[in-house]
Amino acid sequence: MDTSENAPVIEVRGLHQKYGDFEAVKGISFEVRPGELFALLGTNGAGKTTTIEILEGFRAPSGGSVRVLGHDPFTERAKVRPHTGLMLQEGGFFTDLTVAETVRFWRDVSPRKPYSVAETLGRVELEDKAEVQVRQLSGGQKRRLDLALATLAQPKVLFLDEPTTGMDPEARRNTWTLIQDLVSAGTTVLLTTHYLEEAERLADRLAIMHEGRVELAGTSAEVVAQQGNRIRFRVPDALPADRLPLLDGVRATTELRKGQVTAEYKLGADPESTQQSLAQLIGWATHNRLVLDRLEVRSASLEDVFLEVAHAA
Ligand code: ATP
Repeated sequence: MDTSENAPVIEVRGLHQKYGDFEAVKGISFEVRPGELFALLGTNGAGKTTTIEILEGFRAPSGGSVRVLGHDPFTERAKVRPHTGLMLQEGGFFTDLTVAETVRFWRDVSPRKPYSVAETLGRVELEDKAEVQVRQLSGGQKRRLDLALATLAQPKVLFLDEPTTGMDPEARRNTWTLIQDLVSAGTTVLLTTHYLEEAERLADRLAIMHEGRVELAGTSAEVVAQQGNRIRFRVPDALPADRLPLLDGVRATTELRKGQVTAEYKLGADPESTQQSLAQLIGWATHNRLVLDRLEVRSASLEDVFLEVAHAA
């Protein structure tokens, strides 16, 4: 076991998980260092929740190994659990209790109690809901209560499974700030999300999963850099798509939306060759007396990368 200060807080090595004959996770590996926020992104059913549930010690893996704070979370649950906070996709609340009673209940069983009930609710802006029954909270308010409970004992490791689903944009931003504060204070976070902006904003590193495998991993900049640059424009009316030029040997893909055809070239990441392709395109348009409306050149976004992974199957 690596006991150095920078030893991974979360380690996943060749993890497999089967449900009967179905293999939901097919040999994934990654690690999360102290104080890092790692985001697991992926298509529906990719295996993110399964992975998080194994890390939380809810089930033993079918193959490979996982470690949290150097321990096996399933067989050494008692060593790991007091230091972890969990926010599951479905919060397991007693919905007859009020919000304040729920926090009081969790505080009573919590190994550490750094915040009062009022402070706990204040952290997620639910002070004015203290006397409301949990069943009467909106979906986004329930997520906020769940986050307050997950962080109640100042855990070293926080597992957040789609923490901001159902939140309005302001609550989402406030939650991001809370998560960033926790990370600044040294908490290690593993988060799953379908919001790519959330991953871009919060994650030090991320992985994109698809059908049980990690397809891409790295910092958001590294993952995006692998995808290169894009040139897009509206195809002038009446110009057949097969008249569009090849740019650096790349053929345009076209898309028809609301009666308007848009062309897109997926180029390499090298800025010089992108500039040459652009010059070539403009030369072609000028020569043919065409005006390229909505012309844009941009780096691939995380969304482009995600869609590429999702469609590559
Ligand atoms: P989403 O983004 O939709 O929440 P996910 O990436 O979290 O998806 P998982 O919930 O881990 O995906 O599910 C991975 C696959 O395993 C899915 O095909 C799912 O149907 C299947 N699965 C999950 N739990 C079980 C179970 N208990 N029994 C059988 N199959 C399961």
